[in-house]
Amino acid sequence: MRTQVLVLNCGSSSIKFRLFTNQGNDLTLNIKGKIEGLNHQARFIVDTLNAPVTPLKENANHTIALSFLIDWLNKQLDNSIPLLVGHRVVHGGVHFTQPELISEEILFELKKLISLAPLHQGHNLAAIEVLRDLYPDLPQVACFDSAFHAGHGKPVDQFALPQYLYDKGIRRYGFHGLSYEFIVDELRSKAPHLTKSKCIVAHLGNGASLCALNQGQSIDSTMGFSTLDGLPMGTRCGSIDAGVILYLLQEEKLNYDQLSELLYQKSGLLGVSGLSHDMRVLEASSELAAVEAIELYVHRIVREIGALAATLEGLDGLVFTGGIGENSTIIRERVC
Ligand code: ADP
Repeated sequence: MRTQVLVLNCGSSSIKFRLFTNQGNDLTLNIKGKIEGLNHQARFIVDTLNAPVTPLKENANHTIALSFLIDWLNKQLDNSIPLLVGHRVVHGGVHFTQPELISEEILFELKKLISLAPLHQGHNLAAIEVLRDLYPDLPQVACFDSAFHAGHGKPVDQFALPQYLYDKGIRRYGFHGLSYEFIVDELRSKAPHLTKSKCIVAHLGNGASLCALNQGQSIDSTMGFSTLDGLPMGTRCGSIDAGVILYLLQEEKLNYDQLSELLYQKSGLLGVSGLSHDMRVLEASSELAAVEAIELYVHRIVREIGALAATLEGLDGLVFTGGIGENSTIIRERVC
């Protein structure tokens, strides 16, 4: 029997989707596209059909955009809605280390993790709720970015904090797991020796992290408790001396919201350059601050590659992915 599977990655300003036909054990990609510019100038873009870009209602939010997408898909599919929807969900916490069929109980548990991934989790879950309200019988499955790292050893997972905080779930989870899982799958056919040896994958997009793979298994990652850790990113600072946070609280009198905004939204490439979070803009700029932002970015990637290579006790390959990793020859060359 042929069935339709819709896969969604619902972010703060975009919804990326792919529709697959499932027959037997085979999944065939049918339609791929996205809705960009949510809450601003939303537009619907289909990559696989020769369709023009469709502007949505001014300020269309996630609910409007998802309803539009489902209506559009229904038309393409002669009103047979997808059998199943798979969602990217960033955080599965301690308990969710495998894809889960969503229930109200699971949704409740996942909402508790929103504050740990404020740029993503709420939007991922909002998509699930919108579709639940539109189609209460539609099975929805959550696939977690943290799950790929669930096998990390305790010294990798644990902060040097009192043990009871570890027991409360304050530990290093790691993210971008769906991307790393995909990369391992690709390596199996394209560079199989790297799935049998030691390899670092650099996921460099708006978010960024490194994953140390030993025989295709994640043994360490630069991301930790939240999606703020590790490498500097588009707007996030990456690893930072906890003393800086204490100083900002005490001396600069920043409150929680100000601190959160500073670290998640005003730092990284944007904060250092004062110009943009977008690597293309920085690469094209000759301003000193843009040049320095790229220098800092490369320095921190190289430093973390060194640390992960030490953890791996060797390195046989380095793989780049994400918008910057895939497209920026400048960054790849400088890191290498
Ligand atoms: P997200 O994490 O939101 O999925 P992406 O993986 O799409 O983000 O990566 C976005 C980043 O990729 C942006 O910094 C963008 O500038 C960068 N990027 C995309 N194309 C290029 C390119 N040709 N050269 C340099 N950087 C690029």
